[in-house]
Amino acid sequence: MFDRTRLWLENRRLARLPVTRAQWEDAIADWAPARRYQGERRERLFQQTLRFLLRKEFRGGGDFQVTPAMELKIATMAVVMIMGLDLGWYDGWYTVIVYEDAFVTPGDEMDEFGIVHSEGRVLAGEAWDRGPVLLSWQDVQAASSEPGFNVVLHEMAHKLDMRSGGANGAPPLHHGMDARLWHDTFTRAWSALEQAEREGEPFLDPYALQDPGEFFAVITESFFETPEPLEQILPEVYGQLALFYRQDPLHAH
Ligand SMILES: [Zn+2]
Repeated sequence: MFDRTRLWLENRRLARLPVTRAQWEDAIADWAPARRYQGERRERLFQQTLRFLLRKEFRGGGDFQVTPAMELKIATMAVVMIMGLDLGWYDGWYTVIVYEDAFVTPGDEMDEFGIVHSEGRVLAGEAWDRGPVLLSWQDVQAASSEPGFNVVLHEMAHKLDMRSGGANGAPPLHHGMDARLWHDTFTRAWSALEQAEREGEPFLDPYALQDPGEFFAVITESFFETPEPLEQILPEVYGQLALFYRQDPLHAH
């Protein structure tokens, strides 16, 4: 829980953070989805991003140096997702590890963070239950150039999903949401993507079909990065995501 004392301490640390609004604007200038947040909502996005930085620790993977601008950009992407929720949705883990490029997880060994890797794989990102989020900076940067792709949104979606029963595509739903409707809606969307993939015209990254957890993460990327086509192709999924994230990226202004 984030109690009053912790909040008071955080407010004091926030006031002393050496980050200006101009530095933040610079760091996120090339990430289009942040432009949806204007006026008061933009100020809130800035403030919540600073709180995210205070609550999390950034480390470079290998000898990579993570700059303050990189931290600001990654934190902003993470915070955009919870602008309709609360930063508390990211409680229970602390570390964001940023690699220079796609990284290889070592085979069958425990690393310095206590993560057991069962096989060597080249990854753009990875999220561990109650553990760190790992990101490749090259892939974070690609968010601005490849439509519908965002490794930060992807891994943070896994983090939200993990808040109830692992990354299984069933995050904790809000009071008044219907778990059966959520399940049925996503199951129909899964079938639609499977068929589109068979016909050679997938409307989402077919990686989504790995498992329901990946489906939720990939479709979350699309919800924030390319909401127009998502709403056209899968309006019911769009509606469920708008209820879950308590945001409507298509009508944000
Ligand atoms: Zn994933």
